[in-house]
Amino acid sequence: MTETSTSTTNGPDAGTIRERSRLSFDLDVDICVVGAGLAGLTVALEAARLGASVAVLEGRHVGWNASGHQLGTVMPGYGLPIGDLIARIGFEDTRELWALSKEGAESIRANASEQLMPGIALSEGALEVSNVDVGDQLISRLQMLGEDFETEVEGWQVDRVRDHLKTDRYFHGVYYPKAFQVDGRKYVHGLAALARRAGARIFEDTPVVNIDSSGIRKRIVTPSARLRASHIVLAGNIHLGAPLRRLSETLLPVWRYAAVTAPLGERLAGAITFQGSVTDTDGIDHFRIVDGDRLMWASPETTWDARRERFAPAIARRIRTIFPQLGRVEISEVWGGAVGHTVHGMPQIGQLRRGLWVTSGFGRQGMNTSAMAGRLIARSILWGDERWRLFSPFELVWAGGSTGRVAGHLIGIWGRGSSAAAGALARYRERARAKEGVRDARLAEANRQAGTRPPRPRPPPGRPRPERPRAPVAVPAVAVPPGEREPGMVHSQESEKFTPGSV
Ligand SMILES: Cc1cc2nc3c(=O)[nH]c(=O)nc-3n(C[C@H](O)[C@H](O)[C@H](O)COP(=O)(O)OP(=O)(O)OC[C@H]3O[C@@H](n4cnc5c(N)ncnc54)[C@H](O)[C@@H]3O)c2cc1C
Repeated sequence: MTETSTSTTNGPDAGTIRERSRLSFDLDVDICVVGAGLAGLTVALEAARLGASVAVLEGRHVGWNASGHQLGTVMPGYGLPIGDLIARIGFEDTRELWALSKEGAESIRANASEQLMPGIALSEGALEVSNVDVGDQLISRLQMLGEDFETEVEGWQVDRVRDHLKTDRYFHGVYYPKAFQVDGRKYVHGLAALARRAGARIFEDTPVVNIDSSGIRKRIVTPSARLRASHIVLAGNIHLGAPLRRLSETLLPVWRYAAVTAPLGERLAGAITFQGSVTDTDGIDHFRIVDGDRLMWASPETTWDARRERFAPAIARRIRTIFPQLGRVEISEVWGGAVGHTVHGMPQIGQLRRGLWVTSGFGRQGMNTSAMAGRLIARSILWGDERWRLFSPFELVWAGGSTGRVAGHLIGIWGRGSSAAAGALARYRERARAKEGVRDARLAEANRQAGTRPPRPRPPPGRPRPERPRAPVAVPAVAVPPGEREPGMVHSQESEKFTPGSV
């Protein structure tokens, strides 16, 4: 593990500083990509590297939304837990999808070298912590990830987790030595620079307002120019809007907010010594140390776009709840972005009709999954690689419109509430076990001194027998492999009900 850093001083709109070029003349290309976030730029880079002529049309600027405001943690896997994936598509296909997600992560590692992206500050290792005491479940998860999914992972006992994260909020952990983090903002701009270098043309301030995808050569309309292409790749996330409104409506938008604290000095080392990314298994908190003694922390979510500054006090409070020893922390910068969640939790990757592609719905884990999607789509267009069809079981499902947003909000509140309640119960049980241990030890000592045997504990009449203290579960600290998390979906038969005419 090495120390991490991030470009906290660039500001969330760092992408606006460079002079932007707008499409003001008609153009013919092989591939037109709509959207210059992680998803669109990865397709553009891969396709340009394979020799296609590529134009990226971006309504605002590179990294304008989530892609320019993320924490840069790269882990394998999807938002949907492995068990749910196996239940849905079977063991073998899950293994293939998992392997693809690892390829996505490794392709980011290949791009994110200091040579290709100066200042990218790649550092190794991520820790996923549980806020309930489920050591036994952890063992089977470690075995599955390690043996069945060839992912390197280590199980961390409670004591080891708490040596690195000094809080009673977390219990066991899964350490992914091959996961890593980069400066998230620099990565998306670095990706744009690599795509340009490979020959892709990126036009900003160029919203796509209409698409006609019916012919062999498809037409794309922007306010100031028209473009013709053999393939269109829709990578607009929740903001796609008019060109394919029904596609946008298959995503539940969730705004996630993050902040970086002012330097915390030596007190930070008294609370956290782990230098990689930390996420909890409920997907609520996500943090890491940056610039040596600052904390970067993502947590609050809303299903509507709110003023991000409003969340500074909430993030400061959340940090204090988990690490009270830090006391009051000053927040230096807050930012946020909207991620698109699908109903089934898997990303949207695939061909909607001949030459019309989608790469979207990456939710909270868009780094590895968008990188994987970009490679799959570019290779399918140019090499005929059909592996994107593994995502076909995850179809386009309407996310429920404004009712879906309200439901999403309530589910979010409920999820956080039940996670907090489960955490409180786990901590209460842990304290009760500790107290019982002390009491038993005192009793044993008194009996030893009196030369008597300890009486057998009997439950008082009419009351349930007290729970015996559980021996801590031993978690093997053996290397297995990494993985897990996030969204997806796709789709695909060319015939689909989902045709441009119908959207
Ligand atoms: C606070 C936060 C922290 C996160 N941390 C992590 C993390 O550590 N690791 C991780 O893996 N993921 C993380 N994520 C999730 C990740 O950022 C997203 O999954 C990912 O950025 C989605 O990328 P995208 O390209 O699909 O979407 P976007 O970033 O939204 O890009 C889509 C682009 O398309 C453009 N567009 C839309 N419609 C049109 C149109 N009609 N014409 C032209 N342009 C259009 C938009 O302007 C936008 O720039 C985080 C997200 C947030 C908000």
